[in-house]
Amino acid sequence: MSHPEDLAPATIAVTSGRPEPTPGAPVNPPLVLTSTYVADGPTNYARVDQPTWTPFEEAVGALEGGEALVFSSGMAATAAVLSLFAHGAIVVAPAAAYNGVVVTLTERAARGDLEVRWVDVTDPDAVLAACQGADLLWLESPTNPLLDLADLPTLIRGAREAGVVVAVDNTFATPLLQRPLADGADLVVHSATKYLSGHSDVILGVVVAAPDEDGRLLREQLARHRTLHGAIAGPFETWLALRGLRTLAVRFERACANAAVIAERCAAHPAVRRTRYPGLGAMVSIEVGSIKRAEALAATTRLWSNSTSLGGVESQLERRRRQPGEPETTPDDLVRLSVGIEDVADLWADLEVALDALPT
Ligand SMILES: *Cc1c(COP(=O)(O)O)cnc(C)c1O
Repeated sequence: MSHPEDLAPATIAVTSGRPEPTPGAPVNPPLVLTSTYVADGPTNYARVDQPTWTPFEEAVGALEGGEALVFSSGMAATAAVLSLFAHGAIVVAPAAAYNGVVVTLTERAARGDLEVRWVDVTDPDAVLAACQGADLLWLESPTNPLLDLADLPTLIRGAREAGVVVAVDNTFATPLLQRPLADGADLVVHSATKYLSGHSDVILGVVVAAPDEDGRLLREQLARHRTLHGAIAGPFETWLALRGLRTLAVRFERACANAAVIAERCAAHPAVRRTRYPGLGAMVSIEVGSIKRAEALAATTRLWSNSTSLGGVESQLERRRRQPGEPETTPDDLVRLSVGIEDVADLWADLEVALDALPT
């Protein structure tokens, strides 16, 4: 496909990363299981490069408008980005970010590796003030699990003017809703475990670098980190993720439409104290008044799985603070809902029964 940038995302997701359509060629890329390759070819050893990575990287890169590298998990992708910065680097990050990122940054700051300036991403003036003299601005929008929105174009522009590298975790919005590289971000990170693969059967991560010379240099360093630290994706996981990515647009459209309905009904239900829904995406967080009520809700639903993670075809919920390391910015009665693609009337009926039955 010579000009994927002219195509709509739903088309890119289906058509990119396919073998050349020569007579007799398979229409899907093969799953290649090998650790090594016969000498003198383009590929030498499977920790460095794998043919099964390429089509997935092409597809995600085309969707985000940059050059992608697949990693063994979203956290491996995050660690690769942090590896770009020297000892003592200053990182600006959301206080209410994904807990794995908060724990990593907190521990590295405690060791004296990094200095972290925690910010509220809904306050652009404070974020940009914190960027002065910083090395990296790490952003999430919507945030996990408070679902706060950041003004990405403003933050990215301001941070870049201050000479700060900007990385955006785009897991919740997906490239269907926002493409931070087009706004000038240097790097986009995904937990491909979530919407990109979409079936809760894979752990995988991606970093996408901007399609300019700076991005190329960052991508080279990230690829070197991947090779030397061995944070590599398995070929089967990568192949499954590409298979899942083909249906991203229809899955995400349906999940987002369902989420809008669930959010509206939650907001009107007397058992729900507060509904957090940013008006986009397929995540909804509700606060139900106590830990006991939150646990009871999660334990009572039958269609909604009481399990962590998100972005699969099946609806899930969990009391988020049950996770070790979840920051205290998350209320302890908050139940995070990942709305799936089931029939929304069935989803609401199941949730409503559980909400009606909550202990007082
Ligand atoms: C799940 C998640 C991660 C971590 O990804 P893994 O694939 O679990 O390592 C990072 N960021 C966000 C927003 C997530 O939801």
